[in-house]
Amino acid sequence: MPSLTFYGGVNEIGGNKILFEAEGTKLFLDFGMSFNIANQYFAEFLQPRKCTALADFFDLGLLPDIKGIYRLDYLKHMSRPAEERSVDAVLLSHAHADHAQYIHFLRTDIPIYCTEATKIILQALEETGSNPLSDLVTACDAFTFYTNKKGNLSRVTRKNTEFVHERVYHLMEPEDRVTIGSLEIEMVPVDHSLPGACGYIIYSDEGNLVYTGDIRFHGSNQALSEIFVEKAKAAEPKWLVTEGTRIDSTQQDSEAGVKREITQLIATAKGLVFVEHPIRDLDRVNTIFEAAKANKREFVVTLKLAYLIEALGDLAPLSLSDVKILVPKKGWGLISKDGIDSKLVEQDYAIWERAFINRENAITCNELRKKPEHYVVSMNLWEINQLTDIQPKSAIWIKSSCEPFCEEMELDERRKRNWLDHFGIKEYFAHASGHASVQELKALINAINPDRLYPVHTEHPELFKDFFNNVVLVEQGKKWTL
Ligand SMILES: [Zn+2]
Ligand SMILES: [Zn+2]
Repeated sequence: MPSLTFYGGVNEIGGNKILFEAEGTKLFLDFGMSFNIANQYFAEFLQPRKCTALADFFDLGLLPDIKGIYRLDYLKHMSRPAEERSVDAVLLSHAHADHAQYIHFLRTDIPIYCTEATKIILQALEETGSNPLSDLVTACDAFTFYTNKKGNLSRVTRKNTEFVHERVYHLMEPEDRVTIGSLEIEMVPVDHSLPGACGYIIYSDEGNLVYTGDIRFHGSNQALSEIFVEKAKAAEPKWLVTEGTRIDSTQQDSEAGVKREITQLIATAKGLVFVEHPIRDLDRVNTIFEAAKANKREFVVTLKLAYLIEALGDLAPLSLSDVKILVPKKGWGLISKDGIDSKLVEQDYAIWERAFINRENAITCNELRKKPEHYVVSMNLWEINQLTDIQPKSAIWIKSSCEPFCEEMELDERRKRNWLDHFGIKEYFAHASGHASVQELKALINAINPDRLYPVHTEHPELFKDFFNNVVLVEQGKKWTL
C-alpha cells in the first residue's frame, strides 16, 4: 500500500519533510528546516553543537531518526554502525531554507531532483553564506583527520579537496518525465518568491500524487502556476499535498502593485532610497530595478546579490551589467582610500567577493554620499552599518519584505528602527507575499479536484475543512496508509 509520512510542515509554515512511498520506491518531498522548532530551542548565540552530530537534532525533534538517510561521517561520530541507503531520492521544490536547509545532513548518495536555478541558488548559499549547515551541493567529511606534511594529524577542512564530495543532482526540465524506481516523476515550474520554484506530479500504478511546493498566482511568473494547475488536474490525482500558508488571508497581493508603489515612493524621494527585500527574490529585485529605472536612478546591489545575479546568468530577470555593485568598507576599510595597493585592499574580502570589487560598475559609499538623488540601494540590517559611511540626508527606506513573525525578527526590526531614527530616515512599506491567498488556494484545489487533500506548510490546516470535505489533518511523524 502507498503511504505518506509527514516529518515537517505539520501545523507550521515550512520545515517540509514529507516521505511518499509507493510500489517499493521511497521519495522525500523537500527536506527543510523547521524555524518554529529551531527557534524554540536556539538563538543567534545558542546553536546546536556540531560535536553531537545528529543527536541534538533527534533529541529536540528537529530531525526524524530514520535509518539509511543520514551522512555516514555524522553517524560514525555518533558511534552508529553504517547503514544502507533507504530512500531513493529527494524531490526538492525550491531553495528556501524551510524546504532545503537540512539536505546538509543527508547522505551524499541520495539523488536530489530540482531545477537548474534551485541548484545554482544552493551553490551560492554554500559558497557565500555564513551558515555552518550548508553542505548543500557538496559535503566535506566532518570529524575527520588527515596526516599533514609534518606527519602530524590535522582536521580536515574544505581546503582538503579529496575529502569534499559532490552530491548527486538531477536537473529537471519541464515536460521531462523521469523514472525513479517504479515511479514516474514530472517537475512543473510554479510562481513563487525566488527563481526555480516548482511542484511535482508523481505517477504510480496505485494512484497519482501532486505536490504544490510553495505557490502563488500574483508574481511575474503567474502563468507558470496556471499551467501547473492544468497539468495537475489532467493527472487526476488521488492525493494532493498543498501548501496553505495564507489559508486565513483574503488579501489579494500583486507584484505589479508593489512596482507601482515603489515607483511612486522613489518619485517623491529627494535623497537616497534604500530598499529592504528578501535577498534571493529576484522577481522583487527586478521590480525595484525597473522602479529605479522609471525614475532615472541606478539600482545598487550588495556583493551577495551581485554573486547570485551573475551565477544565475540567463535564469535571472536582469543582468549584472544593468546595476551598480556596492563594495562596503570592511575590516581595515581601505577600499575608499586612494593609492593603496589592490592586494592589500583585497585582504578585507572573502575570495568570492574579490571577483567583484574591481568591476567597472563597482562603487563605494563615497558615490552614494556624493550623488544621493542618483541611486536606489538594496540594503538590509546586516549591512546597515554602512549608513555611517554614507551619512544620508533626507533618505527613505522602503521595507519590501514580510512582517516579523518571531521574537528574534522583532528584535532585529527594533534594531533597524534605531538606525533609521538615528539618521532621520522615514520608513515605508510595499510588499507582496510569496504565497497564494485563500481564494487562490480554493480555486487551485477545486480545479485539481483530488480524492484526498493534505494541507501542509500552514498554521491552520483545520480551516481547509470549512471548504472541503476530503481534508486529512496530518500529524507529525504519523504514517498515513493511502
Ligand atoms: Zn516555504
Ligand atoms: Zn518558499
